Amino acid sequence: MKKDYSDYLENTPDAAGNFGDYGGAFLPPQLEGPMKDIHDAYLKISKSADFIHELRAIRKHYQGRPTPTYYAKRMSEQCGGAEIYLKREDLNHTGAHKLNHCMGEALLAKYMGKKKLIAETGAGQHGVALATAAAYFGLECEIHMGEVDIAKEHPNVIRMKLLGCKVVPVSHGLKTLKEAVDSAFEAYLKDPENSIYCIGSVVGPHPFPMMVRDFQRVVGIEAREQFQEMTGNLPDVVTACVGGGSNAMGLFSAFLNDPCEIWGVEPLGRGTKTGDHAATMTYGMPGIIHGFKCYLLQDENGEPSPVYSMASGLDYPGVGPEHSHLKDAGRVQYATADDRECLDAFYKLCRLEGIIPALESAHAVAFAMKKAKEMGSGSILVNLSGRGDKDLDFIADNYGYGD
Ligand SMILES: *Cc1c(COP(=O)(O)O)cnc(C)c1O
Repeated sequence: MKKDYSDYLENTPDAAGNFGDYGGAFLPPQLEGPMKDIHDAYLKISKSADFIHELRAIRKHYQGRPTPTYYAKRMSEQCGGAEIYLKREDLNHTGAHKLNHCMGEALLAKYMGKKKLIAETGAGQHGVALATAAAYFGLECEIHMGEVDIAKEHPNVIRMKLLGCKVVPVSHGLKTLKEAVDSAFEAYLKDPENSIYCIGSVVGPHPFPMMVRDFQRVVGIEAREQFQEMTGNLPDVVTACVGGGSNAMGLFSAFLNDPCEIWGVEPLGRGTKTGDHAATMTYGMPGIIHGFKCYLLQDENGEPSPVYSMASGLDYPGVGPEHSHLKDAGRVQYATADDRECLDAFYKLCRLEGIIPALESAHAVAFAMKKAKEMGSGSILVNLSGRGDKDLDFIADNYGYGD
């Protein structure tokens, strides 16, 4: 029997932050107080008319929302099946969906009287979005980043510095994302009174998966309305790439109670034989990471496995607790696209539509291309989560121009 999702968003997660069997808050004692403060403040402030009004104005006048929904006609014709529509988050200010939740988190920080935003970043995308929000609100910003990533993601380091953000190099362990998370938490715990920790996806302890989802809902609300206006119908299939899962939850949340198939797309990297992937839902088992429960790629001791994707925004061994729940509930299905399929979709979108997508987003496009052919008719709505500027050197140096 089809489940009713009409009041799902109001009731999920529950008061303790559980999405079914997933989520919650597994915290060291010294973090319990600060997380509760953020939780209580969010519930109160985010419902206030002033907050809602200010965030709406920011979306419109600063971010340039609503972003368009676009019918990719030439690509659809080439696939020879369903019509493919793109929700253009690549046209959101800073070139990706991440600013949607960073502006929300920073606005909350302002209302809470905080002076400083703290976070970690891997590829630098979350760092740049948060540094942008900090500049907008005149808040300090401190981003912790592994030294390996600093060397690899130089343009984003420059962006953060131009935006006035302090980039803190992390030089212990593997010098990548995991160490950066520890380092950022440590910095936050030194002064939770004046600072706030800003998570970059629908992951982490309660209330972050809920909060980030709520701030990303604008994507789905806009896209649903735009799609209906353009076609008079709802899409048959809705899809997005899933790293932590924020752009996907933003889009999916608007369609849960509709008769649409919903598909999350995970990176299969170099394929399962090598183990070099980050397909958490497809190959993971329930476990705990960074203070919450979710599907997790892990070893026999429950330690997160090393993961890989050519799209660095997707290479996380965990996934949002809400995705984990919606998979078990059977409401959202999860598929994979590997590096080769991602590249093919990347080049096709460049040549057929004049849109250079982020490699993350190209995973969702790859799935849509396959699915469109299979369906033969109907429609697919894809969240094009970001633009590909950040990936240009990597693509040109390693793969060429798609000739
Ligand atoms: C960070 C990023 C992602 C992955 O994050 P989610 O939380 O899964 O959305 C996807 N696309 C782009 C363009 C990104 O920058």
